[in-house]
Amino acid sequence: MIKYISTRGGGQPRSAASAVIKGISEDKGLFVPESIPALPFKPGDMVGKPYKEVAKAVIGAFFDDYTADEIQACVDGAYDSKFEAEDVVPVVHAGGAYFLELYHGRTAAFKDMALSILPYLMTTAVRKEHEEKKIVILTATSGDTGKAALEGFADVPGTEIVVFYPSTGVSEVQKRQMTTQTGDNTHVFGINGNFDDAQTGVKQIFDDDAFNEKVNEAGCRLSSANSINIGRLVPQVAYYVYGYIKLIEKGVIKDGDPVNVVVPTGNFGNILASYYASLMGIPVKQFICASNKNKVLTDFINTGVYSTDRQFYVTNSPSMDILISSNLERLLYHLSGDPAEVKDLMEQLSTKGVYEVSDKIRKGMDKLSGGFADEQETLDAIAKIYDEDNYLIDTHTAVAWKVYNDYREKTGDETPALIASTASAYKFAADVAKALGMPEEENGFAYVKALEKKTGVPVPSGLKDLDKKAVRHSGVIEKDALRDAVLGSLK
Ligand SMILES: *Cc1c(COP(=O)(O)O)cnc(C)c1O
Repeated sequence: MIKYISTRGGGQPRSAASAVIKGISEDKGLFVPESIPALPFKPGDMVGKPYKEVAKAVIGAFFDDYTADEIQACVDGAYDSKFEAEDVVPVVHAGGAYFLELYHGRTAAFKDMALSILPYLMTTAVRKEHEEKKIVILTATSGDTGKAALEGFADVPGTEIVVFYPSTGVSEVQKRQMTTQTGDNTHVFGINGNFDDAQTGVKQIFDDDAFNEKVNEAGCRLSSANSINIGRLVPQVAYYVYGYIKLIEKGVIKDGDPVNVVVPTGNFGNILASYYASLMGIPVKQFICASNKNKVLTDFINTGVYSTDRQFYVTNSPSMDILISSNLERLLYHLSGDPAEVKDLMEQLSTKGVYEVSDKIRKGMDKLSGGFADEQETLDAIAKIYDEDNYLIDTHTAVAWKVYNDYREKTGDETPALIASTASAYKFAADVAKALGMPEEENGFAYVKALEKKTGVPVPSGLKDLDKKAVRHSGVIEKDALRDAVLGSLK
């Protein structure tokens, strides 16, 4: 059985089920599998198989303490008709690349890929581990995780879900999606601060032993739906494997040929999942990490120095407005192999806001390329691919496509590329409409309608009539008041 251990070397090794419930290790490190399982099949043998088959095999290989029947039930519950696209994840050829459309779930962003299965993995884990406490899911969101987690956990027995979002750092559509959330166990708070404030606040709560004791006394236990939870990460590995199989099926590659992957990156979770897919056996030549103007990762990849000592920008790709990419810690662990080194780097980050990695880690990063797009370049990319190929992409995916084009121009590398397409254009309708030169509208919802009229691309059901839904969660709190909000949400 694969054990899950801390990136920082402390804490207790755990089964996957126990790591999923716990969210984060006792020593504040993130759980990583002590070894990465090999693909349980030859990709070429999976051609024509449905998404669920691939997901079952990949997730089952990592979470081998779950029985095959348990994994099957989780996958069946998650990837059903909630997904509005044929076979869950369409792979679309446009703009000289292959877009892995990950946004056809209920909340119209890729976060649904993991957050529609996490509640199943979590409730199964609770049963397996005989956990008797109520699970309270704490989530910091830059806009998309919050809604996807709320949809996933709404009215799931034995859970409460509490979400914190930056009150002025998300799009109008994203905000309304969260504030109209139904379900008796859902709690949503805007905070006066940015995403890093929300994420740091939530991490501090996890680290606060006295607070956790209080929560315990109330019969509850905290867990996380952020990508620090290994139960978020592993389901994401499946779609890179699936994308690779699709490229074989389309005749773009032969089994065993390399591909490039391009991922618009914030917390480094999605791109790390592609790295896990490669460690399982999917041949990836380059991992192209795309950032917006908050280009802390681009600079890190180019220099080996990670520094948060810089201005923070609110951009038109808000789900990537992040300076502290928490999942990078997992990559550092895999490249270093030395948890003491990771612990030291993370301590430098929290005390000084900066660290520089060793030569060993630096060498391991040779398959990682970084680039960024500013806001105008993002809009230009949306216009260009729409004009040339009649293909509609959102602002985050546009960042990725622009960075990919830069990479290709610079290197001449024509290896077929999978681009993670992370959100429906309708979630960021105002900026997408602006990119397409459309006239100004009154509000975000009017842009949704106008964009549908112009492009004919159907609006995802979850985004329809959002402006007519009742707002249920209007609270905005200070960034030092998260603990009270959590305590007030326990029942
Ligand atoms: C969350 C998100 C990202 C960034 O993903 P990470 O896993 O945090 O790197 C990119 N695009 C969209 C639309 C997102 O919601």
